Amino acid sequence: MLVKTSVLVVGGGLAGTSAALFMAWRGVDVTLVEKHPGSSPHPRAVGFNARVGELMRATGLADELPRSNVGKGFGIRRVKAESLVGRKYDETFWSPPAEISDVEYSPSKGVGVAQDRMEPLLRDKARQLGADIRMSTRMLEFSQDDEGVTAIVQGDGEPYEIRADYLVAADGHRSPIREALGITRTGRGFMHTSRSVLFRAPLDEYLKDGIGQFVIDGIGFLTTYGDGRWVLMLEDRDYTEAELVARIYQAIGRDDLPVEIITTGRWTISAGVADQFSAGRIFLAGDAAHTLPPSRGGFGANVGIEDAHNLAWKLAAVLGGESRPSLLDTYDAERRPVATLCHQQIFARNDGHNRDGEPEDAVLYDNNAMHFGMLYRSDAVLGAGPELPPAQLPELWNGQPGTRAPHAWIEPGKSTLDLFQRGWVLVADHPQWEEAAQRAGVTYERIEQLELFGLSEKGASLVRPDGYIAWRSVDLPDDPAGALTTAFRTSSAGTR
Ligand SMILES: Cc1cc2nc3c(=O)[nH]c(=O)nc-3n(C[C@H](O)[C@H](O)[C@H](O)COP(=O)(O)OP(=O)(O)OC[C@H]3O[C@@H](n4cnc5c(N)ncnc54)[C@H](O)[C@@H]3O)c2cc1C
Repeated sequence: MLVKTSVLVVGGGLAGTSAALFMAWRGVDVTLVEKHPGSSPHPRAVGFNARVGELMRATGLADELPRSNVGKGFGIRRVKAESLVGRKYDETFWSPPAEISDVEYSPSKGVGVAQDRMEPLLRDKARQLGADIRMSTRMLEFSQDDEGVTAIVQGDGEPYEIRADYLVAADGHRSPIREALGITRTGRGFMHTSRSVLFRAPLDEYLKDGIGQFVIDGIGFLTTYGDGRWVLMLEDRDYTEAELVARIYQAIGRDDLPVEIITTGRWTISAGVADQFSAGRIFLAGDAAHTLPPSRGGFGANVGIEDAHNLAWKLAAVLGGESRPSLLDTYDAERRPVATLCHQQIFARNDGHNRDGEPEDAVLYDNNAMHFGMLYRSDAVLGAGPELPPAQLPELWNGQPGTRAPHAWIEPGKSTLDLFQRGWVLVADHPQWEEAAQRAGVTYERIEQLELFGLSEKGASLVRPDGYIAWRSVDLPDDPAGALTTAFRTSSAGTR
């Protein structure tokens, strides 16, 4: 049997499934293989930030995300405690408070959804949109040539071949694909091994004050998935079931509640960023590209989902013939510095117990800067120079090319962000720009919030299909159509 597809995704975790979802949403013929039959019964990620919420909103998935009772969505608070019911004494803030805190950055909210609930939602949506998702199917080997990639995969029956134009390696932190390609990693490396016990207990009353993470004296780290399930992270050794129950009761600080152990886990916590995010027709995404421990910021899955989003529109544009393959080089140029910055921030932030040493001395970036204020510098952006910081709050960027277009409500329920995602968009409020957009072949959107984009009333910003600003003209140039056409062709690696 030979299956042909445009993009083969290997790995059905959060990064791979998101890649399949975003590509299917853009009409790309995509096939995903995942060796397991479903999600792991022991979830890892639970906190998804509002930027990920925005990406889900664009695919129409936001309303399907379950509400959770974990703190205020992603803003999970962490304290030291004698026990869950006992004295709490030292709240840890890992991100400096926003300098200007009354800004509404996003139309979306972060959500607390356990990974084993999130993955099926993404998978179902991807399937609805036409992705071919093959669970219980393992990729055995792969090779690439000038025209494409060939993989041998195996499901229930005999091995068969999948031929694709491109391959997305979302095969997790051990990434056999990355290893086979000989791609090295830079970073902390191995940090520690943890044991975990996942259990169900009626403890919701202890979440009322919005604190969801507890560093329990002498026991370990206790947190919740917000759906009645809790996880206690313990030192790495073997525990009998009776010992686990005893530890759970110690952590809770009372032993008169029913506790049901669901499963246990053993986790190798490490950190590293791949030294290249692509090799020929193969792209690394998610933990395969960067392993970012969850201890300070919950970057791992969120950054992986954003990788998938960054790659999806580029692959769609190249496969659709609108952009030259050189556009794909901007994936590494844009996403690797983001992962490297996250890696740095993880070790610069205080995790409340300094398990892996004292925080490193580095500039601390606000969570809002990390979620909404990353800067991309690549050939798909015009005018993002080396003098600019790698991240800052959106209001300080003020519409800088290379950053995510700012959010403002255009009308109730409709954000500026809702104008983007499908294709290239020029935002402006001037008839000459409307004509220029027509001539350049980009969608024109008239908006009043030009100031937010750092534009005069005669200016315009060109926004990419991922909602990032590619270029802007603060004022009206002599030849708007010429300026726009050149900017569009250059930043999109356009073939037209
Ligand atoms: C305890 C813990 C808590 C965490 N909490 C958070 C959090 O709150 N927020 C956050 O953002 N991140 C968190 N993370 C990190 C997050 O879980 C990971 O970054 C994320 O799940 C990685 O997703 P992925 O899709 O890249 O990789 P994975 O989830 O590892 O998926 C890779 C998939 O590839 C499959 N695969 C591998 N090889 C093959 C093959 N040859 N053929 C077919 N399939 C293959 C595997 O079976 C696997 O399903 C946490 C991590 C840990 C350990």
